[in-house]
Amino acid sequence: MAVKVNQDKCIGCSACVGACPFGAIEMQGGSKAFITEACTACGACIDACPAQTIVREQEARQTAVDKDAYRDVWVYMELNGGQPRSVGLELLGEGRKLADAMGQQLAAVLIGDGVEPIAQEAFAAGADKVYLVEGPEYAHYTTDAFAIAAVDLIDTYKPAVLLLGATNDGRDLGPRVACRIGTGLTADCTGLGIDEATGLVAWTRPAFGGNIMATILCPDNRPQMGTVRPKVFKKPVPDHSRSGELIRVASKVRPGDIRTRLVDIIKVCTAACNLEEAEVIVSGGRGLCKPENFALVEELAGVLGAAVGASRAAVDAGWKPALHQVGQTGKTVAPKIYFACGISGAIQHLAGMSSSDIIVAINKDPDAPIFKVADYGLVGDVLEVLPILTEELKKIRQAG
Ligand code: FAD
Ligand code: SF4
Ligand code: SF4
Repeated sequence: MAVKVNQDKCIGCSACVGACPFGAIEMQGGSKAFITEACTACGACIDACPAQTIVREQEARQTAVDKDAYRDVWVYMELNGGQPRSVGLELLGEGRKLADAMGQQLAAVLIGDGVEPIAQEAFAAGADKVYLVEGPEYAHYTTDAFAIAAVDLIDTYKPAVLLLGATNDGRDLGPRVACRIGTGLTADCTGLGIDEATGLVAWTRPAFGGNIMATILCPDNRPQMGTVRPKVFKKPVPDHSRSGELIRVASKVRPGDIRTRLVDIIKVCTAACNLEEAEVIVSGGRGLCKPENFALVEELAGVLGAAVGASRAAVDAGWKPALHQVGQTGKTVAPKIYFACGISGAIQHLAGMSSSDIIVAINKDPDAPIFKVADYGLVGDVLEVLPILTEELKKIRQAG
């Protein structure tokens, strides 16, 4: 809820109940107003209350933040089919560095159904503590249930920093939680550090359409929150000898809090567009000359079991959907091998793939900037090179 009733001052007059156009206020025990998840933050009840006891939660918190009470760096460990997404482990690695620099502890937040065994992975990735909230209501991600759990954890245990992956779920959960808690959130970060002058987390992200990199601080509110792009940081090497403190927290979700129902899952993203988890990516650019030629990229990807990427020029031309775009305004990837086929290597493209382990570039222009970052360069017509490469790799695969 974004508005809050000060229960001590509520005189139980019920004026707010009738004033709420969304039926979001219940009288608990007949004497105190309680705002439910149906609240849309319209504010109509605030003026209706004769005791002036309803306030926007943000205002209530901003006056009350005792920054010294907030400690530790937390990482939200997002799950996918009951397994941790790579980004959670990547953030534990980076969170460890922040926690050490701040002289504080690192904790993982694990919310799910039957997910306790994953706590060990969090410890192995560097966590000192794991906050575990379990229950069937968390079997699938819902904004309502996960926001209630996260807000309750933050209210109770008061972290100084909370990192989430800039994934679909993280981009949904992070702002919702930040709004309820009344703090700021830096979205889609590509860099993290500690600001020397203030000791605050320095969140770096592209701004003004990617033309400058901005570093943002959150000086007044807690926790300092941000979403971070997957694959910006490497996963830490797991240390399975590590262990830590497991803190089980009871779920506060009540029947009726979850306003959505999962009816079906329709996968539009196949392995070919799962760029962030892919070990091999074959990407195509404007050098493919026309959309039909993307079939050559897809064929090579098929032989290698690779995901298919695209430059922004190829996406803007409508040759591939945006979820394939690699780069500053697309996805950040770090596969073991990245094939750049007919891609010039503009700085904005490099921003999304230059930390790949091995880069193979195919371009007819020997001076194309992509060759400056490539480990292997093939100067030639991509429309001729790709079928030969695919055929040769097919033979090697069949022989092996
Ligand atoms: P081009 O630059 O046109 O390059 C095509 C290449 O193909 C050339 O090097 C050419 O020599 C070669 N070629 C042509 N024909 C052949 C052939 N037959 N065989 C072999 N080689 C051939 N771009 C991204 O990719 N991702 C982003 O996220 C992104 N974000 C951006 C954000 C901002 C704010 C801005 C301003 C730009 C962004 N861009 C991004 C665009 C970027 O600047 C480039 O315009 C884009 O990457 C170019 O795509 P391309 O390499 O496919 O096309
Ligand atoms: Fe109802 Fe609006 Fe008050 Fe929320 S803010 S409880 S929706 S009147
Ligand atoms: Fe309590 Fe104010 Fe609602 Fe009356 S209008 S029940 S005092 S919150």
